[in-house]
Amino acid sequence: MSSAWSVKQIKQDHKDSKRGSINFTAGIDGFDYADTADKAAKAIKAQGIDFEGNAETISRIRNAKKIVLLEPHFARKYLPLGLAKISTYAKRHGVKVEYQRDYNPVGEDLVCVTSLFTYDSEKVHDSIKAVNFLNRGVPVIVGGVYASIMSKAITDLFPHVTIFKGFSKELDMSPPDYEAYEQWGMEDPWNKFSFIFTTRGCPHFCPYCVVWKIEPREDGGGLWVNPEWKEHILDERPYMMVSDNNLSSLPMEHIEDVITFAHKKDKRVVFDNGFDCKFITDDLADLLGKTKFGRTGMRLAFDRIEEDGIFQPAIEKLKKHGVPKSAIMSYVLFNFADKPQEANYRMTECVKLGIRPYPTRYCPLNKLERGNPYVGKHWTKNLARVYRVFWLMAGWFNKMTFEDWARKEIGGKQYKLFDDDWDCWYTGATKRSFRGHRKVVEDDALPVADPLIAVKEDINAGNLESFFAEESITP
Ligand code: SF4
Repeated sequence: MSSAWSVKQIKQDHKDSKRGSINFTAGIDGFDYADTADKAAKAIKAQGIDFEGNAETISRIRNAKKIVLLEPHFARKYLPLGLAKISTYAKRHGVKVEYQRDYNPVGEDLVCVTSLFTYDSEKVHDSIKAVNFLNRGVPVIVGGVYASIMSKAITDLFPHVTIFKGFSKELDMSPPDYEAYEQWGMEDPWNKFSFIFTTRGCPHFCPYCVVWKIEPREDGGGLWVNPEWKEHILDERPYMMVSDNNLSSLPMEHIEDVITFAHKKDKRVVFDNGFDCKFITDDLADLLGKTKFGRTGMRLAFDRIEEDGIFQPAIEKLKKHGVPKSAIMSYVLFNFADKPQEANYRMTECVKLGIRPYPTRYCPLNKLERGNPYVGKHWTKNLARVYRVFWLMAGWFNKMTFEDWARKEIGGKQYKLFDDDWDCWYTGATKRSFRGHRKVVEDDALPVADPLIAVKEDINAGNLESFFAEESITP
């Protein structure tokens, strides 16, 4: 069986589709943002994200006497950054704080609960229920990603809670509470990191991402730069994690400031949320070539076929200027609007370039439970599952193609593909009718999901690190 697929055809398909013309070209030279920006503004308004309202919420933190910082039982290895910043901010205003994972009243007059992935919503609800049960009447503030984009799901169940949406510049200027570092329960190597966002937001409006909704651009169209970011880096910690969502889109002056600061302080850097291949210039590559990285600290994304021909030269430029291949990793989105052959082309290009692809399986961010995984229009459930496993294992993808691996059943019976999967693999056609999440996505011109968040979950859960430990990273 052969595929009728070609890069040219896929690009044309996207160009012809309504969604493609609106979103997939965002950030590519010559693209007119006007239509997308207008839709973004409407989407933000429709979700009732009111950043002004956060000022009132922040004043309640300042004026409390004692606060419990409550983190539901998410699997994570990084710092719970929002709570860690509230901790510093509250202490600086003379407020006592106590961090907890299992709620236990300690005479507090305010409880701040954090939330993360929407599909971990039950864990957030359980924490709020525990507060209600053990300390009815105490004021509760809920913030974080889930609370920001699906506040109604929380207030329908718990009408008395206050929702903190998006982020607050005032709070963001506080460093994480490093004094109480032990209490956050981070393991090696994360306890050797300083965690920073030097900016908030992203100039793009990718349809699979939530960043532009919860961290909108400034009035003039630029991104907010945190004037205090240098204060958030500790001399005694050898690593710094820069989590800006699109640092490379900032003026070179700011990027240079961040990178040369890392050089001067002799830090190893992880650019957690990745660089944008469209903005990799020779000057930037030269700076990055002089940078020391934490493991796969130079991260990019090859999420869209439209970046074919832009992504590869960007990687070559980085290598030419001295960034080691082993430091480069690229997130590669699949299970969204892509077909398997197209996604596989992007993965395989990374391998050819000698860098590690990381498969990010699309999941709508309005999905409220972990079960029943979302399956893209051009995928089968089994194919998406098996495909992801293959691309997580450098010991496999550096030695053979997915097709050979699957045909020879090298992964064993649990990773076997069936006739429907093979048909889908070649053509992207499936026999399913789309209901549930598929409908949500198709009904919404700007669906909500963040592949980077899904990836972070893997990293936080230690999955990625364990793969690095077991497998060679580059060919
Ligand atoms: S996926 Fe990346 S580039 Fe796209 S909007 Fe989100 S942060 Fe920006």
